[in-house]
Amino acid sequence: MKAMVLTQPNTRLVESTLPDPVPGHREVLIKVHACAVCRTDLHVIDGDLPHPALPLVPGHEIIGTVIVTGPGVEQRRVGERVGVPWLAWSCGECAYCRSGRENLCDAARFTGYQINGGYAEYTVADARYCFPLPDDDAAQLAPLLCAGLIGYRALRMAGAANRVGIYGFGAAAHIVAQVLRFQGREFDAYTRPGDLASQTFARSLGAAWAGGTDQAAPAPADAALIFAPAGALVPLALRRMEKGGIVICAGIHMSEIPAFPYDILWGERSIRSVANLTRRDGLEFLDLAPRIPLRTEIQRFALAAANEALQQLRRGEFQGAAVLTMQG
Ligand SMILES: [Zn+2]
Ligand SMILES: [Zn+2]
Repeated sequence: MKAMVLTQPNTRLVESTLPDPVPGHREVLIKVHACAVCRTDLHVIDGDLPHPALPLVPGHEIIGTVIVTGPGVEQRRVGERVGVPWLAWSCGECAYCRSGRENLCDAARFTGYQINGGYAEYTVADARYCFPLPDDDAAQLAPLLCAGLIGYRALRMAGAANRVGIYGFGAAAHIVAQVLRFQGREFDAYTRPGDLASQTFARSLGAAWAGGTDQAAPAPADAALIFAPAGALVPLALRRMEKGGIVICAGIHMSEIPAFPYDILWGERSIRSVANLTRRDGLEFLDLAPRIPLRTEIQRFALAAANEALQQLRRGEFQGAAVLTMQG
């Protein structure tokens, strides 16, 4: 099969021909139709996340069709459309797993990081961690598998906030924005200073206000979601938030958070991170998505153009999400 492979951090992916993977116990072989490109892929490729399993096929927002079921598979069947998310496996036995927090499992394995992902024509996945999906356009669905899912988990942690500040208006934010509007809530969109295209995009999705992080929305928010990997946004978001509000850091990696005076945290404001996902998040969110219905803004790339997609994501050159689409 054709695959894009990371051989060393901080190098370009190499277009390669690999043997087709073989599904093991409880695994399915999936023909990949589309795989969205996540900022986490950049963190893996750029060496921000330690110890990827090299050589590695990145990608954890996979849409495909089951073509072979391995021994012991009960949940999925041949011909079924599935999505493969970031959480590939958890132990099921530790205190986290037993308390509904498999996202925090110390032994968890992640797709496109510790095991091969979806920048390829085929992939294998543990059937118990795949989600059944409708036969809609695969490329449109792909960003839901991480940008949508993690955005949804982050939003849930923001509680009942009426007005939410969103920092970084990329793939996750453009999905969360639609959920917020569906729920009758308002949001402000903060982008890189001067990024007028993203601000216009945010307004088209119903932003009450959109501007650069060097500006301030007319009213403070009740909660903030930070999708950009910039620690300096944390004190900035605290300063633009009502008492009792929460700042949710939704990325897997962030630059150092600068020191800040206690009085901007005072008033029962809090800061929290979101880590990974549980299967319950996925089922809940993928059930909600068609009822809104969510529409993703996507930029399509051929599998062989994965490096270009990553570079454009790094530079913030498109709106919404980049998606690799496979031939045939
Ligand atoms: Zn566990
Ligand atoms: Zn992701």
